[in-house]
Amino acid sequence: MLPIPYGKQNISREDVEAVLECLQSDFLTQGPKVPEFEILISNYCRVRYAVAVNSATSALHIACLALGVKPGDRVWTSAITFVASSNAALYCGATIDFVDIDIRTINLCSHKLEEKLVQAEKAGALPKVVIPVHMCGQSCDMKRISKLSHKYGFRIIEDASHAVGASYKTNRVGSCEFSDITVFSYHPVKMITTGEGGMALSNDSELANSMRLLRSHGVTKDFERKAGKPIEGWYYEQQMLGFNYRMSDISAALGCSQMKRLDKFVESRRLLAERYKTLLSNLPLELPWEHHDAKSSYHLYVITLNNAMRTKRQCVFDALRDAGIGVNVHYIPVYFQPYYKKLGFARGYCKNAESYYSRCITLPIFPTLTLDQQDYVASSLGKALSS
Ligand SMILES: *Cc1c(COP(=O)(O)O)cnc(C)c1O
Repeated sequence: MLPIPYGKQNISREDVEAVLECLQSDFLTQGPKVPEFEILISNYCRVRYAVAVNSATSALHIACLALGVKPGDRVWTSAITFVASSNAALYCGATIDFVDIDIRTINLCSHKLEEKLVQAEKAGALPKVVIPVHMCGQSCDMKRISKLSHKYGFRIIEDASHAVGASYKTNRVGSCEFSDITVFSYHPVKMITTGEGGMALSNDSELANSMRLLRSHGVTKDFERKAGKPIEGWYYEQQMLGFNYRMSDISAALGCSQMKRLDKFVESRRLLAERYKTLLSNLPLELPWEHHDAKSSYHLYVITLNNAMRTKRQCVFDALRDAGIGVNVHYIPVYFQPYYKKLGFARGYCKNAESYYSRCITLPIFPTLTLDQQDYVASSLGKALSS
């Protein structure tokens, strides 16, 4: 039997045909598919502007730059996230710092954030940008974080790499109701895929414009023309130092086709999550907890062993891997990484994050996970816990 992965893309015949059609068209990149994909996403999220790029990492980078993050500025993110959320700040030369998590949601804790802001204000060291991360697909407490942003004067980038198709209160994640910019990832393990790819969303036309410039060398043909000056047809202008972070039309064609099934993907993941709840209810575990304001996309299904069982985490993990189940751990606290240790972070910095990390295991969840496979995961986990 092939191992059951923790996550897996879902590619239909229609997806394949959409990509083939693009390959046979006039444009492999910078054609009509990227704008079409951007419009699909902005309509879906009810947000004004969508800027497609080649990864969420690129989106985070240009989001930070568009918000003016530069050397000497401070950026804060969650202690539990993929390293990309915090690396983006380092690309801009900023100083990074980490906020501890809420142990129930695994999200950046808005109360810990407030405590840290109070201290930072006294020290004259407030952050310029805070990057909340919607772990596993559940939105952070954005309303409260947004209130704090007004009080303490920071800007917000939502790292919604996990939360494509999720909702928060009355809106879809991506509406930017409580943030300046929201970032999506279209890596194959995420909710929908473009191979590699990402998106930056905003309601602010200036932010969107600078992100458009930054993704393509800082070069534009759309600039203010001096009155009376003749227009040369070849003329283009570099207005800032940008990158090549463009998404290809091949990727966007796949993205447009995948979008048709996003809501179905979310529903099937939510059904599997509901079913896990029943299957695992008698085990010594904490199961994912959903706040009533949030509808998670369940990009990941993470269980945490009870405190009494924490020393068994590695045995349980190994037993599941031996049983052909591709369990994983999301994530090692970012500041445990050797690169971040060198920046001066030490163990004990974020207590909840470290407690969570010592007890968490990611179980398989993806739309084509069969009920038999899910039963097998549950029974293997039960066995591993009792041995
Ligand atoms: C996957 C992921 C990213 C990076 O996404 P890419 O598209 O692979 O660059 C950033 N942040 C989080 C939380 C992620 O899970």
